Amino acid sequence: MIGRVRPAVSNLASYTPGKAASQVEAEHDISDAIKLASNENPWSPVPEITAAIADAVAGVNRYADNSASDVRAALGQWLDIDPTHITVGCGSSGLLQQLFMVYVDPGDEVLFPYPSFEVYPVFSTLFDAVQVRTPLIDHTFDLDAVAAAVTDKTKLVFLATPNNPTGTSIAMADVDALMRKIQNDVIVVIDEAYREFNDPAFGDPVDLLVDHNNVVITRTFSKAFGLAGLRSGYGVCHPDIVRELDKVRLAFSVSNLSQAGMLAAIEHEDAAMAKVADLLAERQRCVDALAAAGVETPPTHANFIYIPTGDASADIATAMEKLGVVTRPFPGIGLRITIGTPEQNDRWLAAFLASR
Ligand SMILES: *Cc1c(COP(=O)(O)O)cnc(C)c1O
Repeated sequence: MIGRVRPAVSNLASYTPGKAASQVEAEHDISDAIKLASNENPWSPVPEITAAIADAVAGVNRYADNSASDVRAALGQWLDIDPTHITVGCGSSGLLQQLFMVYVDPGDEVLFPYPSFEVYPVFSTLFDAVQVRTPLIDHTFDLDAVAAAVTDKTKLVFLATPNNPTGTSIAMADVDALMRKIQNDVIVVIDEAYREFNDPAFGDPVDLLVDHNNVVITRTFSKAFGLAGLRSGYGVCHPDIVRELDKVRLAFSVSNLSQAGMLAAIEHEDAAMAKVADLLAERQRCVDALAAAGVETPPTHANFIYIPTGDASADIATAMEKLGVVTRPFPGIGLRITIGTPEQNDRWLAAFLASR
């Protein structure tokens, strides 16, 4: 090892993103592999959005507006929230990192139901936090267990809804009840990366801000709007929290291209959401096809399906890879498969049913 690497870093396993299709093609000597492992949108952004990004390219000799004022103003108008309640991040993962920078000292507790987004354990390790994980019941968060696990050392609580990898959602009325049970110097983060795929009946976390100044909502244009490669995230929270989060964001990390993409996405929401509707119809078709084959899945409200395949998960994922379908296995518990194009979905359904 070169230099004196922090133990928190040397102990951390290197992040394993979903395997690239090209990697699987080389490993198994196949062609035409498809990647359904990272919950990406299978479609390019709508043309109005790609055109706006292309128009911004000539301006990359300049640093972006670090405060992204136009984007905050547009988000504020779009969401009917005062822009002082809005911040932006280099993807919503950038905002999650900023939350750790603002709130977590070594030894502080970070609480989340688990399995959930793999970034929470990674940042917890990097910041020398104590991870407190509560179990899920029927693949869904148990908010009573979360409330019971809060201590005076808890700084952050992460609730991803819909959850990654299980796809399950929680009702905002239940989060409100949780927040009434815990002290209000604990920051409760509602990670809504899959918001646009969710059933609105679960409620809007922005409404929690009326009674709770300790809630932070993180959202992204990566999934539903197809801007994963641009790194475009935003947050909604109390202006005092916005101020602290803004201090620690890597300067200019929300690029001019990202800002152009976000502005265009807001302007062309309807066109983007029409494609989300297609994905939701495909999701239902896949759930029905699995059910017809006797495969039970927890109710999904995201752009992926979680199949609780238990100890067979890694083997099934390998068998599917040999058939050119890359999924995200969670060894010992399940398989997460992103909804793709209709053709891709036919392929993964056939590959799964042949591999289970
Ligand atoms: C994909 C994902 C994100 C991060 O998305 P960004 O591309 O960083 O905006 C955040 N939370 C969850 C639960 C996710 O699955």
